[in-house]
Amino acid sequence: MSKENILIINCGSSSLKFSVINPRDGDEKISGVAERLSTPEASVRWTFQGNKKMAEIPSANHFKVFSKLMDLLGETCLFDTIEGIGHRVVHGGETFKESCVITDDVIQGIEACIHLAPLHNPAHLIGIRTAIEYFPSLKQIAVFDTSFHQTMPEHAYIYAVPYEYYEEHGLRRYGMHGTSYRYVSAKAAEMLGLELSDSAILVAHLGNGASAAAVLNGESVDTTMGLTPLEGLVMGTRSGSLDPNVFSFLNKTYGYTLEEITDILHKQSGLLGISGLQNDCRVIEKAAAEGNRRAQLALDVFCYVLAKHLAGLFVALGRIDALVFTGGIGENSGLIRKKVLALMGVFDFYISDELNEKLRFGNEGVITSTDSTVAMVIATNEELMIAQDTAVLIS
Ligand code: AMP
Repeated sequence: MSKENILIINCGSSSLKFSVINPRDGDEKISGVAERLSTPEASVRWTFQGNKKMAEIPSANHFKVFSKLMDLLGETCLFDTIEGIGHRVVHGGETFKESCVITDDVIQGIEACIHLAPLHNPAHLIGIRTAIEYFPSLKQIAVFDTSFHQTMPEHAYIYAVPYEYYEEHGLRRYGMHGTSYRYVSAKAAEMLGLELSDSAILVAHLGNGASAAAVLNGESVDTTMGLTPLEGLVMGTRSGSLDPNVFSFLNKTYGYTLEEITDILHKQSGLLGISGLQNDCRVIEKAAAEGNRRAQLALDVFCYVLAKHLAGLFVALGRIDALVFTGGIGENSGLIRKKVLALMGVFDFYISDELNEKLRFGNEGVITSTDSTVAMVIATNEELMIAQDTAVLIS
């Protein structure tokens, strides 16, 4: 059996996503997610050859999920086809400007970035260490969400606070979703027949977490997320940018602690906070269509803040070849795309309702008329990027 596939691991604090992908043709052999780890409700769901399955794994931790994963890879005859393992790592700070083979030094480097991503990096390290234990003969690669944005110029990443905080502890803007931007901007250039090295592409990655980035000649020159994934756009449950004095306001008015306010801004805000309903854009769109005022307001704020940020990112690009929508909302919501482009009329976007309505569920292409600045939809594929980086680095 030929070793042609890459195992991709994305370890969160209470979840573990996995997939096995052929990096050459993008064929996904198996994919799954284990959730609510270390609780009595822990379970794992996976899809293999179109069949969806689920198993309860009460109180399983990450280590036990790997054991289950080994069983699955054995049962599906995929185990012997794996040539390397790619790990998604959220924060690489300024240390990791590109993907790299995992060594003891790299593990120490990821540890040194824990203060920048205290929820994510420790979980990634558990995934990496466990994978090394289970697959000692395979090379392991780390692919960082932040590395694509390491090309941002200083004026785009420095916060206007005392400079020593940056020098001493790395307080600056880093940006996230870099793997998605790298994939989508290259695909957009290819689809439009442009040289990536001579292209100006604005990307709106709109999932439950959302951000936008300006990609000039294949390099990130600015993005909306900052030190953490809280900055920037309105998201499913995250507030996005707000006046930093909101912290003292909530503390003085309600007596909330720093931890409680952080939790509110990460988990109870965004579409959920404004609508009072849910973080799922589909639910909000349906409620708004049925006349729910706060659901409508949530959509209005989401689109307005997005359009304002996209307009701001034009400054970083200087010109524009295309605006690309991606992520669960960007790929599927014709309504959000239409509202955002209407707000950006000053940049000569003219939507084609027919094309816009057609593009969802993985369909890709242009959604604007021929006399318009180009806006398009591309389905992001971070897993394929991780698989391709892994294949290159292990060979
Ligand atoms: P992601 O994090 O990229 O998986 O995206 C999740 C988001 O995509 C959720 O807010 C979903 O509600 C949203 N989404 C998925 N399908 C649709 C759809 N058909 N219309 C609107 N939003 C959608």
